[in-house]
Order: sequence, then C-alpha cells, then structure tokens
Amino acid sequence: MILAIDGPAGSGKSSTARAIAARTGLLYLDTGAMYRAVALRFLEAGAEVTEKDAVDILDTLNLDIRYENGDMILRLDGRDVTGLIRTRDVATMSSRVSTLAPVRKKMVEEQRRIAEQECAIGKGVVIEGRDIGTVVFPEADVKIFMDADPRERTRRRIRDLKEAGESPDEEEIFQEIVDRDRRDRSRDLSPLRPAEDAIFIDTTNLSFSKQIDMIESAVRERLG
Ligand code: C5P
Repeated sequence: MILAIDGPAGSGKSSTARAIAARTGLLYLDTGAMYRAVALRFLEAGAEVTEKDAVDILDTLNLDIRYENGDMILRLDGRDVTGLIRTRDVATMSSRVSTLAPVRKKMVEEQRRIAEQECAIGKGVVIEGRDIGTVVFPEADVKIFMDADPRERTRRRIRDLKEAGESPDEEEIFQEIVDRDRRDRSRDLSPLRPAEDAIFIDTTNLSFSKQIDMIESAVRERLG
C-alpha cells in the first residue's frame, strides 16, 4: 500500500500524513526532510548550487533515516539533524538544491528503496512531497494533492515558527512561501503539480480532523 500525498508548504500534508501513518501503521516518509538534509550539507560546506558541487556533496553524503515511535529521525554523518533542517534558510536552500538532477536522482532512488523495502515485508508507506504521485510512485494506490490559499499557509507557518520561539514578520514569510512555491512549480525536473488521478483537497477552511476524515474516506473509496 502506497499512499502519496503531494502539495506545497503549509498545505497541511505533513501533519495529516503523520496522523494517517500513526492510525494505519504505515511508515511515514517525509521526502522534504531528505531534500532539507542535502540543503543543510550544501550550506555547511559553502557549496554552490551547481551540478558539479552536487556530485561532490552526494558522493560523500551519509544520510541515515531511522524511526523512533513513528517519528522520522535524520542523521547526517552520524549527527542528528532532525531539528536543524527546520530553519527558514534550509527551507529556501532545499528548494534551490532540489532543482539539480543529481540530487533528485539520488533522493528518488532512496525513497523508492525505503518504500519497496516496507512493501516487501507486507507493510506500506504514507509518503509526502512534491513529485510523489507524478514521478516517484506514479502507480501509488492512492494519490492526494493538498493545497490552501497562500495567506492561510503563511498563517500556519507563522504559528509553527512562534511555537518554536521565533517572532517572524508576516510579509517576509508570505514572500518566502510564494518564492518557494514558484521555484517548486516552475522547475524543469519534477515540478510540483497534481497527478491526473490525484484527489484534490483544498484545506484553506478545513479543520485538521476534517482533513484526516477526507483522506481516510478517499483511501476507503479508492481501495473499495
Ligand atoms: O516539504 P518541505 O517543505 O520540507 O520540502 C522542502 C523543499 O524540498 C521543497 O520546497 C521542495 O523544493 C523540495 N522537495 C522536492 N521534492 C519532494 C519534496 C520536497 O523537490 N518530493
């Protein structure tokens, strides 16, 4: 069972994907976190966003994904970077490095390997990102595309940042979200877009529990 959830930042896909995984016992795979870890490596190495630097970075990249109580823990060269990848700088850098072919190739291979390993032992995955239903798993059992008004996505992002102790400026965050969306939607490789057979959910005015209900009923409907 592969449940693919795509959508832009702040659409609600991470929180719902995590909740669905917890309820169903499927493995939760956050592919954005993987691109973020690569971005952190670029930032720390002072690398240029070029294919050449990407090849060097990927050659020595030691990215390890583990699970603790269902939470995904990322280690970069043995160091836990699960919290470090959540900064605004890393978010912006991740949407730049994810335009590079060597980066996408390596991440997609790894995502398929993890999901196939789970399926081979009779389980499955809830996998979220930007290109899951279109590129990584075009044959996914269920595909969901979540979106919301950019102003509402900004409000959600600000709420998260405030919870993390930051006091962000609303217009700056709005601009970061709009810029990241534009890069993700307009890139040549695997742009963010709904798969033709994806179920579209606009979460602008939906409560969290309603989002979960809609996805659960979509899964039931698709799987019969
Ligand atoms: O989902 P999240 O906001 O953490 O993703 C960070 C960035 O990683 C996105 O803005 C996007 O550029 C990139 N990404 C991607 N393909 C995916 C998941 C994320 O290009 N499947």
